[in-house]
Amino acid sequence: MEQTQSKSLNVVIIGGGIGGFATAVALQNKDIQAHVYEQAKALGEIGAGIIMHPPTQYLFKEWGLGEVFNERGIPNKTIEVYTAQGEFVTNVTDDMLSSLKKDQAGLPPASIHRAHLLDVLISPIDPEYIHLDHKFESLVETADYVEVTFENGAVVQADVVIAANGIHSNIRKLFSNDEPLYSGNHSVRTILSREVTKETAKEEGTVIYKEGAKMLLMQPVAGGMHFDILYPSEDTTWVNYITKEELLTKITSYDEKLVKLLDAIEYPIADRALYHRQPILRWSTKRITLLGDAAHSMLPTLGQGANSAIADADAIARALSECATVEEALQQYENERRPVTTAIQNESQQFDKAFDK
Ligand SMILES: Cc1cc2nc3c(=O)[nH]c(=O)nc-3n(C[C@H](O)[C@H](O)[C@H](O)COP(=O)(O)OP(=O)(O)OC[C@H]3O[C@@H](n4cnc5c(N)ncnc54)[C@H](O)[C@@H]3O)c2cc1C
Repeated sequence: MEQTQSKSLNVVIIGGGIGGFATAVALQNKDIQAHVYEQAKALGEIGAGIIMHPPTQYLFKEWGLGEVFNERGIPNKTIEVYTAQGEFVTNVTDDMLSSLKKDQAGLPPASIHRAHLLDVLISPIDPEYIHLDHKFESLVETADYVEVTFENGAVVQADVVIAANGIHSNIRKLFSNDEPLYSGNHSVRTILSREVTKETAKEEGTVIYKEGAKMLLMQPVAGGMHFDILYPSEDTTWVNYITKEELLTKITSYDEKLVKLLDAIEYPIADRALYHRQPILRWSTKRITLLGDAAHSMLPTLGQGANSAIADADAIARALSECATVEEALQQYENERRPVTTAIQNESQQFDKAFDK
């Protein structure tokens, strides 16, 4: 079997999202150049802000992305919870949103626009390794290689295939026939201006206005304010487009200052049902493995999905550079990451139930 230490190891990553590009960067940092195949014709992230925890920020530093991340990421020094009427309830405590705290060295989590995060991750990658408009279709694994076919007719051979193609990953079917599970909640997210939100949000902190299972959350991103309304619903449609009148009905009991923020949104706006998956028992064959949401899609309650995908990227890059064979490397990666992400998936479901009260 080939030595994985070889710089000529041919790695194919399916999916050019946060997990796929983090993996390409982590591998490049170990002198392994991976090819990323993305179905979209152009790169971009929809949605709004995302929180990056201290361990992720240390990885960015190790990968040489510390400065470029800091240019866009905003430290979240405080997390405060208020009632829908704006009465202070609590700031972060050990039993609530504990993952959103400063670490022992005092580094706070940082929020960043998803599109900016993708820019950060793509920045060190030579465009010749990025293949857009390549929708994965099928693969065949042999003892010596994997042959991957794309819908556009392209066929490539790889020593190892990393499936980072998100919650709908068809490669996950190698390991499980499970389907995404509806969480019972919807999320409407956008970016508002700092000016519009100056009385109700914090320049360097997260604020949550909560009423039962409903939540309005704001978090600073470069040049704006991430604005997110989470509300329970029985509608399982993945994406609807919602009008201002409909959105108003979700937060009727909220303080006037908060309701007024809806005037600053452009309608109709995407209203997404939140889905996740249960942990599975296996992620890897001898030459194929899952990463990020393809492996362990989780509820967003702990803000850990993308952070976990980035930690996966670090683990698989270490394994492929250290182990004697691809098979050993995939096992090392899975043994390191699956117990951790299984625990986070379970924790985020428990937290979701507790937070709904
Ligand atoms: C409301 C909400 C808030 C969140 N907040 C946070 C947060 O604060 N912190 C955090 O860590 N996480 C958060 N998450 C989770 C985070 O968004 C995901 O865990 C993360 O985006 C997963 O990255 P990924 O690369 O695995 O998958 P994706 O981002 O889904 O990327 C998959 C990529 O694969 C491509 N693809 C799919 N199929 C194919 C195919 N057949 N061929 C080629 N390409 C394909 C897609 O086009 C896409 O580019 C949140 C999620 C939600 C819903």
